[in-house]
Amino acid sequence: MSTAKRAVVIGAGFGGLALAIRLQAAGIQTTLLEKRDKPGGRAYVYQDAGFTFDAGPTVITDPSALEELFALRGQRLADYVELLPVSPFYQLCWEDGSRFDYVNDQAELDRQIGLFNPADVAGYQRFLGYSKAVFQEGYLKLGSVPFLSVDRMLQAAPQLARLQAWRSVYSLVSRFIEDDRLRQAFSFHSLLVGGNPFATSSIYALIHALERQWGVWFPRGGTGALVQGLVRYFQDLGGQLELNAEVARLETRGDRLSAAVLADGRRFEADAIASNADVVHTYKALLKDHPRGQKEGRRLTGKRFSMSLFVIYFGLKRRHAHLQHHMVCFGPRYRELIDEIFQGPSLPEDFSLYLHSPCVTDPSLAPEGCGAHYVLAPVPHLGSAPIDWAVEGPRYRDRILAYLEQHYLPGLRDDLLTCRLFTPDDFAGELNAHLGSAFSLEPILTQSAWFRPHNRDDRIDNLYIVGAGTHPGAGVPGVVGSAKATASLMLEDLRR
Ligand SMILES: Cc1cc2nc3c(=O)[nH]c(=O)nc-3n(C[C@H](O)[C@H](O)[C@H](O)COP(=O)(O)OP(=O)(O)OC[C@H]3O[C@@H](n4cnc5c(N)ncnc54)[C@H](O)[C@@H]3O)c2cc1C
Repeated sequence: MSTAKRAVVIGAGFGGLALAIRLQAAGIQTTLLEKRDKPGGRAYVYQDAGFTFDAGPTVITDPSALEELFALRGQRLADYVELLPVSPFYQLCWEDGSRFDYVNDQAELDRQIGLFNPADVAGYQRFLGYSKAVFQEGYLKLGSVPFLSVDRMLQAAPQLARLQAWRSVYSLVSRFIEDDRLRQAFSFHSLLVGGNPFATSSIYALIHALERQWGVWFPRGGTGALVQGLVRYFQDLGGQLELNAEVARLETRGDRLSAAVLADGRRFEADAIASNADVVHTYKALLKDHPRGQKEGRRLTGKRFSMSLFVIYFGLKRRHAHLQHHMVCFGPRYRELIDEIFQGPSLPEDFSLYLHSPCVTDPSLAPEGCGAHYVLAPVPHLGSAPIDWAVEGPRYRDRILAYLEQHYLPGLRDDLLTCRLFTPDDFAGELNAHLGSAFSLEPILTQSAWFRPHNRDDRIDNLYIVGAGTHPGAGVPGVVGSAKATASLMLEDLRR
């Protein structure tokens, strides 16, 4: 292969980083252009008053996909970042005071399930069997191969039918499990990748088996340390990362891309360009001068997008010893709340929360004796609820903090040392996310695999997509899988 081949990757999220590593490791001179002042995308890091806050992903699963990136050039992930095991994976909490520690120990799981409902011990085994089967088909076989043709979709169709992929995650879980709380406990996972458990294909039940297979991990130093490890590895391989490098447009010659042009006028010529930026932004804004950009941009705006998130990053002057690292705090309603989050038309009155307390695993993320936290609430995206977040954000923050103080963190507001917000407006403004969606296109069956934007554009054949908006979808394992799929196409094309 000619070493003169050059690639540009737009956006240094996990997907963009993983792709850039794969290309650089294969000898393609790769430049990663990132709009913000730090890499990571949704996995950005805030440093406030001595606290370290990971902005986004905190539940790190499938470390083998990350190991694979390092193995490409005979390196080891462990030489760049240390992954610490997290147990329980999550603690699930309800307002009636019941708790479920989701651990990776079958006897202990059975014991806890039995306390909720003895009949569900056997039901859980059947659910786990199903989850393992979809994990095998949907993740191991198809999670990192591109779906460019309808033929490939048709090849997968019999398996999808056998696995009843038309059912929702919740309906599938309910076939096996009776207890309401356990139904929530085994169906909420699709929310982690932007999927409504009542609408997302039951294929996403694979997340359960994936967690059971490889565990849940947290990098020492936080998710930001994992991002830094990937950046360092990319640079060690000879790759170039440009921060504060916002791409304003893609230059075309006929139906091929020739360069990425930054807002400050700098130009990066390339043989192939991949975008890790939001897919709608990629087509509508970056490719606006080409008919393909306008047409595809219009088509994509007609799709369904995942909900947004409202996140509060806060530091406390006290450490609460009773907390677990990952806690899911279910509110009084489940289905009705999720309906309102996905359909609007306004901000629901109640909430279900995810509470992140990383000092349980790594105390170095806060000053001595203090606790770093974030709490997130799924909220409607900007298209389903026209909320003025500049006004509603501080009110919503106060409601959530009061709720946490009442149920989980006594004295919270007196102990507060630092607090910052990230709202749907920030997803839209900072990350260029269409409608402020936190996870890009909603992962429903008719927007998955071949029906999702393709890893290589259908018309402009040196334009590629990587990250949450393409196959297989959102979540760190998803976007790292998308990088493998996209890299396979790019390397094949660049080697021609
Ligand atoms: C709060 C939160 C918590 C989450 N928790 C988890 C979790 O625990 N586990 C998990 O697996 N997943 C989690 N997710 C999902 C996961 O973080 C994302 O799906 C994944 O990180 C998205 O990666 P990506 O490669 O698509 O890129 P992104 O992270 O979306 O990055 C895209 C990058 O492109 C840049 N960009 C945009 N436009 C331009 C431009 N014009 N020029 C240059 N650069 C541009 C952006 O600045 C950004 O850095 C979470 C998400 C959020 C928001």
